[in-house]
Amino acid sequence: MVTDVVISGAGPNGLMLACELSLAGAHPLVVERLPERALENRANGLVGQVVRMLDRRGLYERLTGTTDPPAPTPGFVFGAMPLNLSALENNPLHTLLVPQRRIEQVLEERAIELGVEIRRGQEVTGFTQHEDRVVIEVSGTAGPYQIEARYLVGADGGHSITRKLAQIAFPGVTTDHTISRTAHAKVPAELVDPVGGGLNVPGYGPIPPMVHQRTERGMFVYAPLPSSPWPLVTTIEWGQEDAEGPLTIPELRASIRRVLGADIELGRPEGEGPHLLRKLTGGNTRLAERFRDRRVLLVGDAAHVHSAIGGPGLNLGLQDAINLGWKLAAVINGRAGEDLLDTYETERRPVAERVIMSTRAQAALVAPGSEVTGLRALFAELLADPGNLRRIADLMSGNDIRYAAGDHPLVGRWAPDLILDDGVRLAELTRDARPLLIDFTGEDWGYPQTQGRSAVPCTALLVRPDGYVAWATDAPQPDEKSRASLEAALARWALTLAVTW
Ligand SMILES: Cc1cc2nc3c(=O)[nH]c(=O)nc-3n(C[C@H](O)[C@H](O)[C@H](O)COP(=O)(O)OP(=O)(O)OC[C@H]3O[C@@H](n4cnc5c(N)ncnc54)[C@H](O)[C@@H]3O)c2cc1C
Repeated sequence: MVTDVVISGAGPNGLMLACELSLAGAHPLVVERLPERALENRANGLVGQVVRMLDRRGLYERLTGTTDPPAPTPGFVFGAMPLNLSALENNPLHTLLVPQRRIEQVLEERAIELGVEIRRGQEVTGFTQHEDRVVIEVSGTAGPYQIEARYLVGADGGHSITRKLAQIAFPGVTTDHTISRTAHAKVPAELVDPVGGGLNVPGYGPIPPMVHQRTERGMFVYAPLPSSPWPLVTTIEWGQEDAEGPLTIPELRASIRRVLGADIELGRPEGEGPHLLRKLTGGNTRLAERFRDRRVLLVGDAAHVHSAIGGPGLNLGLQDAINLGWKLAAVINGRAGEDLLDTYETERRPVAERVIMSTRAQAALVAPGSEVTGLRALFAELLADPGNLRRIADLMSGNDIRYAAGDHPLVGRWAPDLILDDGVRLAELTRDARPLLIDFTGEDWGYPQTQGRSAVPCTALLVRPDGYVAWATDAPQPDEKSRASLEAALARWALTLAVTW
């Protein structure tokens, strides 16, 4: 038996891909090296368009327990520069404070609900590509075995074995000049501001919660997160000798003294953990030379790694998976040719390149030194201009993505959050990942369609399963030209509006 798709790795991006493939009518099998879900604390939240995308799959509701739509965040930071977004009209930046562990749990539950098989404690160790399939070598608890699949997707993280065995180069840079120290820690109660939730540090001053503090010697963050009774305390220092061994609370305290020039009497957290104590030296910024080699594709960290500054990793990776899922399923189910798969890379590589640009720019803005202080003063002046502020918010959210351009300005853009008939939100109609034809004219386009009543700059639009606009028109009613362009868009993206697949 040949499996449709083997996904190597049950991290967030592999699990999301498994959900998307299932929704689109393909049968994925996930192979995960770890016997249990990882307890490691990585992402503390999601930043950007992915929050709205999760709403469009009903996963935002599962993560938050509310049926309310996500609301934009009034403030955020870019390179430790505070962004006051509340003044922006149509603020595009959404955030969701939720630990990666929880995201993975919700995605795993959803994948299982959709009938996905997840094999844990099994490691992909090799593969051979054939004309019509890939033979994958797996090392399991009962010994090695093979799986035949039509496609293999490497969602196996930054050290991806899939990428390495496919001989896809991973060019970029590795630096070793930073040391980041993060721990759950006990902070003296008298330093905590009961109103704002930040700290008042004698000898330094007020430090708002979650807002990066850059000094000429390093960076400090105080993050009281809902996922733990103990706040996360982080420092980053440059060009400093690494202290031997794993991080200790006294080492973090000494680092704070150097960065802030003031002391915070940190203590060890009490009670049940896991309590984080993490020291990371340096970092990688790399982008895979190709996202595909014949029947092997890469998503998420397997395709790109970069600094975690600004939290863009899962905005990028989860939307890779959502971009790839429906396309790969259409090819597997014979509805599309291989050229549809090529659009995965042509659409997602430029997005990864922008994330890399943004994280590099932020890393430069938080670096120590008086030149950087000058650069920051200039940047602060630029951010006072609402046009520039919007540009940064668009960059961080991914709201500036425009995939394939078309003859209407909405084509290739994120479909607006429309209100449709009966007050239903677009996000409530896209949970099964079907494409939607939305009509505002009250006319019949000859396909199953949904009537809308929002004021958007078009009279009808076609939304792809990943939430982007495939086609839009201003024609007041269906005419020959608009019908022909709709048909062309349906064919180009292999979209079917039929009620069943
Ligand atoms: C310190 C830190 C903080 C971060 N903070 C944020 C944040 O706030 N917001 C954000 O959006 N992102 C953040 N990120 C980035 C985010 O954690 C990653 O982008 C994300 O984990 C990538 O998911 P993935 O599924 O691609 O890979 P991974 O999460 O690395 O998952 C890969 C999976 O593949 C498995 N695997 C590996 N090799 C094999 C094999 N041979 N066979 C089978 N299975 C295999 C692994 O066990 C793992 O489960 C942070 C990252 C770090 C390190």
